[in-house]
Amino acid sequence: MSTDTPFKSGFVAIVGGPNVGKSTLLNQIVGQKVAITSDKPQTTRHRILGIAHLPQAQIVFLDTPGIHRATKTLNVRMVETAMKALDDADHVVFMTDACSPDEVSEGFIIDALRHRGLPAICVINKVDLVDKERLLPLIEEWGRAYPFQAIVPISALRGTQVDVLLSEITKGLPEGPQYFPKESITDVPERFVAAEIIREKVFRLTGEEVPHAVAVTVESFKERPGKDLVDIHATIHVERESQKPIIIGKGGKMLSRIGRYAREDIERMAGCKVFLKLWVRVEKNWTRDEKAIRKLGY
Ligand code: GDP
Ligand code: MG
Repeated sequence: MSTDTPFKSGFVAIVGGPNVGKSTLLNQIVGQKVAITSDKPQTTRHRILGIAHLPQAQIVFLDTPGIHRATKTLNVRMVETAMKALDDADHVVFMTDACSPDEVSEGFIIDALRHRGLPAICVINKVDLVDKERLLPLIEEWGRAYPFQAIVPISALRGTQVDVLLSEITKGLPEGPQYFPKESITDVPERFVAAEIIREKVFRLTGEEVPHAVAVTVESFKERPGKDLVDIHATIHVERESQKPIIIGKGGKMLSRIGRYAREDIERMAGCKVFLKLWVRVEKNWTRDEKAIRKLGY
C-alpha cells in the first residue's frame, strides 16, 4: 500500500425516483440482500445501511425512499426521510431509469442537490433495457441538468459498470477513517430491517411518552421450510421500569398494535406472511453506544 494514496471514507446517499433500482444497486454492491427490492414503488421506507469495503476506501451507503413531490400528506414523511439522508451525506448517487424518466421526482431531487450544493454522481440505470444509441443523448441531457462529477451508465441488476461507479464514488470521497470494522458488518440482513420497522412503530404509536431510549433487537428470523412464512422473535428494550407499561399498554393493547403495524410492514417488504412475537425488557444501562452497536447487529 503506497503512502500517497490515503484511505477514503464517507456517507453516500442513493437517491432517485421510485423503482429506479436503488435497492438493487445497494444489494449488488454489498453483495447480499440488505434492502428489499420489489417491482412495486416505495417498498423501501427506511434508511438502510450498506457498506462497501474497498482496498482504499470504505463507502457507507444510505438507502432512501424514492423522493416525491409531497402532494399527499403520507408522502411528506418519505420526502423528509430522503432529505435527511441528503443532510447526512458526503456524496450523492443520483439514480435515474434509462427507460422511464420521472421528471417530477427528478426535478425535485436536482433542486434539492442544487440547494445543498452537494457533490453528486449521476447513474443511469437499466442500460440492459435500452439501445446504445439512446444512451448518448441521455448522458448529454443529464450533463446539462447538474454539474455532476460523473455520469455512469450501469445495470444494477446485472452488475455492469458497478465497479466503475465505485471508483468514481471513491474519487469524490474525503480522506477518512475506516468507520466500521470489516468483518463485523459485511452483512446488514433482513433482521435489521425488521428491527428498524418495529422501532419506528414504537415511536409512532407511543409518541412523546417514550424517549429515544428504545432499542429493538431481533433474536430470531426464520423462514418456515416449505411455507411462504417467516417467524420473527424480537425484543423491545427500554431503560426504565416506568416505560414498560407505556409500551405494553392497557391489557397489552399497545404492544399488540405495535406488533400488528410492524407485522403488516414487514410482510409488505418481505413479500410473505410473518408471525411476529414481541417481548419488552428493561435494561438499565442501555447506553447510546451499545444501542448503536446492537442496532447494527454486531
Ligand atoms: P428502488 O425503488 O429504487 O429501490 O428500486 P428496486 O431496486 O426495488 O428496483 C425496482 C425494479 O427494477 C425491480 O424489479 C428490479 O429488479 C428492477 N431493476 C433494478 N435495476 C435494474 C437493471 O439494471 N435492469 C433491469 N432490467 N431491471 C432492474
Ligand atoms: Mg428500494
